[in-house]
Amino acid sequence: EEAQRLQKVIAQAGLASRRGAEELISSGRVQVNGVTVTALGTKVEQNDTVAVDGAPIEGREKLVYYVLNKPRGVVTTNDDDKGRKTVLDLLDEVDQRVYPVGRLDYDTTGVLLLTNDGEMANQLMHPKSRVDKVYVAKVEGVASDDKLAPLKRGVVIKGRKTAPARVAIERIDKAKKTSMIRLVIHEGRNHQVKNMLQKVGLPVSKLTREQYAFLDLTGLQSGDYRKLTGAEVRRLK
Ligand code: URA
Repeated sequence: EEAQRLQKVIAQAGLASRRGAEELISSGRVQVNGVTVTALGTKVEQNDTVAVDGAPIEGREKLVYYVLNKPRGVVTTNDDDKGRKTVLDLLDEVDQRVYPVGRLDYDTTGVLLLTNDGEMANQLMHPKSRVDKVYVAKVEGVASDDKLAPLKRGVVIKGRKTAPARVAIERIDKAKKTSMIRLVIHEGRNHQVKNMLQKVGLPVSKLTREQYAFLDLTGLQSGDYRKLTGAEVRRLK
């Protein structure tokens, strides 16, 4: 393993952005092997101990990246207070402590990225990166272009307007009065798709995320996961 720049080590631990890490260093809050370091170009080796405000950064371990086809009935949080199964329980062959990039609801299925690269996770979750997420929802009701039109302009949820969504009708079952809707958004607000479709009178009964950025579910059965390829990792950065 080669030496890494100090700000990169701090950013990868998810403690701050690159820029934020530089500020931590400049303001004298970072120690290497117990000695405060304020020079921004400083490089550290794998076995140097880096600390922020005296607290060592844990596990400067190999960076790993996985995509999981999340099944229903598992939570995306690392540690559920109701003791329910979490997505991490599914990653039985992963040694590193990874965490999910964003959330999917308990009953939502589909593409979930997991990594221990805090810098990449923070970057992807930042509103500015506008990562496209493609959802397919089964809704109660017969959809129409008119009904869906407000979603293309943005609807107000909890006092704030959503960004315009791309939306299309995939299928309508007139007998059962249900529809399948494909929705592409780049925001990641809590329960956003359910809230958006609820808002236009089409409550969601099933939700799958088919794509996150360019990552999809090809080759992944429910509950399966795989490592990203090097090319995929580079493409996400
Ligand atoms: N929108 C939702 O409503 N739920 C999810 O799990 C993801 C997006």
